[in-house]
Amino acid sequence: MPKTKEPKKDQKKEIGITIKKEEEFGEWFSQIITKAELVEYTDVSGCYVFRPNSYSIWEKVQAFMDSEFRKLGVRNAYFPLFIPEKLLNREKEHVEGFTPEVAWVTHTGESKLSERLAIRPTSETIMYDSYKKWIRSWRDLPLKINQWCNVVRWEFKNPVPFIRSREFLWQEGHTAHRTKDEAEKEVFQILDIYEKTYNDLYAMPCIKGFKTEKEKFAGALYTTTIEIFLPNGKSAQACTSHCLGQNFAKAFDISFLDEKEEKQHVWQNSWGYSTRSMGIMICMHSDNKGLVLPPRVASTQAVIVPITFADSKEKVLSKAREVKKCLESEGISVVLDDRDELTPGWKFNEWEMKGIPLRIEVGPKDVEKDQAVIVRRDNGKKDFVKTADLGKKAKEALEQMHKDLYDRALRLRQDNEAEAKEFHELTKAIKDRKLVKAAWCSSTECEEMIKDKTGGAKIICIPFGKDMDRKEAKGRCVCCGKPAKYEVYIAKSY
Ligand SMILES: [Zn+2]
Repeated sequence: MPKTKEPKKDQKKEIGITIKKEEEFGEWFSQIITKAELVEYTDVSGCYVFRPNSYSIWEKVQAFMDSEFRKLGVRNAYFPLFIPEKLLNREKEHVEGFTPEVAWVTHTGESKLSERLAIRPTSETIMYDSYKKWIRSWRDLPLKINQWCNVVRWEFKNPVPFIRSREFLWQEGHTAHRTKDEAEKEVFQILDIYEKTYNDLYAMPCIKGFKTEKEKFAGALYTTTIEIFLPNGKSAQACTSHCLGQNFAKAFDISFLDEKEEKQHVWQNSWGYSTRSMGIMICMHSDNKGLVLPPRVASTQAVIVPITFADSKEKVLSKAREVKKCLESEGISVVLDDRDELTPGWKFNEWEMKGIPLRIEVGPKDVEKDQAVIVRRDNGKKDFVKTADLGKKAKEALEQMHKDLYDRALRLRQDNEAEAKEFHELTKAIKDRKLVKAAWCSSTECEEMIKDKTGGAKIICIPFGKDMDRKEAKGRCVCCGKPAKYEVYIAKSY
């Protein structure tokens, strides 16, 4: 993870980004998120305030996903934050996977609780205790519930806002099905929704695949994942969709009578997408001037900056108001920055820092020519546009910007993909911060060797093959030279 220092409280607030993305990625990231007013640090390490500039992005993601989930028949609900210890302990692998990072409530006031309560690190156990009561017959299936909530995982590795925090926000979907086929189909449907969210909202391409046995979710049959390659040469696990099989169903006795009146255990999935996605977006698109917001997650998509002089001020402001109406008529959310006390240059810098996709400049000359200037945040491209065409052109510029951001992110990944046949090629490519494709025999020994001998890189996923299975490899394992089983991506990762 980028190393970020929590800024000292009395640190003088410099206005611009003073560190270059390509030089000190962690420090750059830390400046972006504070100066663009996305987060505030708190006295609890690893816990951050999501300020309106970031929370509004999350609200857009929520709205988009909710509408997609509804199409699959998923309904929202809410389960308690506290999980009794006995529930958490019921599925063995699951509890072993989460124990090191669970925060416990042990006291109320001065008195000790008779049973410790876990602050949910994820909600399988508390939800399935209810599912057991709700599912009786095949008619009760499928059961598809999602909740939007916070979770706490008390990680001790250095925390980084958005990317690795002790408390974060997410959605967690939990479904129960009659058959394995039905459950498995949904695992991939959900991963497709996640991919669509990254593609269509955040303007980022995804690698979809399976986690290895070692890296899968604790208690799952298997885990599917989306991985995103970032400009600092690391890959981020962007979200996951798990097939839980019948492990939890057996541990929690979630069963139903089928049409022949025979008792069966349900097949279950769980899937989650978190506020980490915002961190991935910030790492990907932002630059040395500040945040760059993809247009579809920007709550303000354009800002109008009037360039006024004493003799023409009223004319310019009246034109700026006309421009605002033009944009609004195309459904663009727009702000007119008519603050008197600030210079246009100061305003340009501020809106660039906050990542607003379009800046519209209106000056005395533009009034004369019946035009305005559209400036794109991502590439600085200027367009002089007649007032009559403004709404349409601004809308086109937003669409083009979305597409260009996506294409640039895809090129970044393609330009940094490397293939390794021998182990020394792998170590060199990792040192060069590449996303490495290699063949792997599927043994845990080789997987561990990769982690130990490359300075912490790991198998991030086994990409999907043509039937959404694990892509098979020809040739030999990059570690042991034995016949390979799967193709894998290897990278340093978050
Ligand atoms: Zn091997």
